[in-house]
Amino acid sequence: MRRAARPLHPDSEFALSLRVFNTLTRAKEEFVPLTPGYVGMYCCGPTVYDHAHIGHAKLYVAMDMVVRYLRHTGYRVRYVMNITDVGHLTDDADSGEDKVARRAAAERVDPMELVETYTRSFFEDMDALKVQRPNIAPRASAHIPEQIEMVRQLLEKGFAYEVDGAVYFDVTRAPEYGKLSGRRLEDLEAGARVDVDPNKRNPSDFLLWRPAAPGHILRWPSPWGWGYPGWHLECSAMARRYLGETFDIHGGGLENIFPHNEDEVAQSEAANGCAFARYWIHVNSLTVGGQKMGKSLGNAIYIKDALKRWTPEGIRFFILSTHYRSVLDVTDDALAAAEAGVRRLNTALRLAEEAVAAGKDGQAGLGEAVEEARQRFHEAMDDDFNTASAIAALFDLARDVNSALASGTGARLEDLKEAVATFRTLAGDVLGLVRDDSAEADQELTRHLMEILISLRSTLRARKEFALADEIRDRLAAAGIELEDRPGETVWRRRT
Ligand code: ZN
Repeated sequence: MRRAARPLHPDSEFALSLRVFNTLTRAKEEFVPLTPGYVGMYCCGPTVYDHAHIGHAKLYVAMDMVVRYLRHTGYRVRYVMNITDVGHLTDDADSGEDKVARRAAAERVDPMELVETYTRSFFEDMDALKVQRPNIAPRASAHIPEQIEMVRQLLEKGFAYEVDGAVYFDVTRAPEYGKLSGRRLEDLEAGARVDVDPNKRNPSDFLLWRPAAPGHILRWPSPWGWGYPGWHLECSAMARRYLGETFDIHGGGLENIFPHNEDEVAQSEAANGCAFARYWIHVNSLTVGGQKMGKSLGNAIYIKDALKRWTPEGIRFFILSTHYRSVLDVTDDALAAAEAGVRRLNTALRLAEEAVAAGKDGQAGLGEAVEEARQRFHEAMDDDFNTASAIAALFDLARDVNSALASGTGARLEDLKEAVATFRTLAGDVLGLVRDDSAEADQELTRHLMEILISLRSTLRARKEFALADEIRDRLAAAGIELEDRPGETVWRRRT
């Protein structure tokens, strides 16, 4: 039965219903928004004290895909993603040092200068990866009054308590605490380390407002003295300001379910007296060659570096070829395979477009393949955004287009036009995998030529024809391209 409230896929007559895995219920559920046709969506944004790495790319490309698909199926989406520029504590929370404050002190810049630099850097990277900008990207530092107001409400309702200018959330006053992460308060308390903060009533209580001494570089006046908000608070306060007390989707990285998202739920539902986010979508992390990625582990890959080696569509394809709830392992082979995949889709699209431009009518038959690909694509995406299966459907269409055009009889013009529209809409608008820019085509060509030159040079070296091998290196250097020989491989870069 088709429900009036459910939007139809604009490019087809079949009304499929979207099902999403909701972390809150640990089940795939039919997605029914609060207001028909409209989706309010929030995602935890980056802490802007460094350049973004490919873990950020995985999270925000996945969220971008969700937003694009919702819009494709006819929803109006308000997508809010915050910028954490204050209040995100280091692992050593008790030191009271904020990541932003610490980095600003180390770089000897004003905290807002640091925040501005890395916020710009973040959006530069996201733009390059074709991640559409959120409708609103509110900054925590610009929403201190909203956060103070929420702390005040929590104190008034008896969910929080103040000790010497610090305000804590009392987890024992929230009977549902732990419902998002599936942790039980008893287990948390039993497993808690001996807490060094003697002001807490319970070990799991968390800071809503943290006092700051006069020397602290990020602080604001509040009813409890000078200080700054705890990290979790900003998402609750800004989601309420821009999406209302109850809204449809809250996204984020899997590693933030506890304590960050759990604390958001607890304080929002306590302050508002109603449900917070209705669907929680969590994106899994990635590994590098099977290892956990981290700055401290020395294997973090910045997006800016990844983009020197791979195309934006290649990186998107790589991320979307695995389900968003699965761990993704970064290897050169996997990225090379993703580049090949993107090429395959774009080549089929280009061939179909050239055939349409040539205007020669051919044999019928491709039409069914197009219709089937569309149906399979939507079925896959409606099944908790199964992008891997959706891409497989597009691959099959690419194969059918190629074989129809390679056959002597060609394809019907109308069918080819439909194939073009399907690639442009589904591979392009929804997944962001279609290359349009000729600059990108040039980049791709450069990459190919460099691969050829590097492999020629290593063949020459293996044959001990060093003069020729060196000539390749020297002439590239003269053209501004440097080669670096590493064990087992040669990498290239443009001289800056
Ligand atoms: Zn958050």
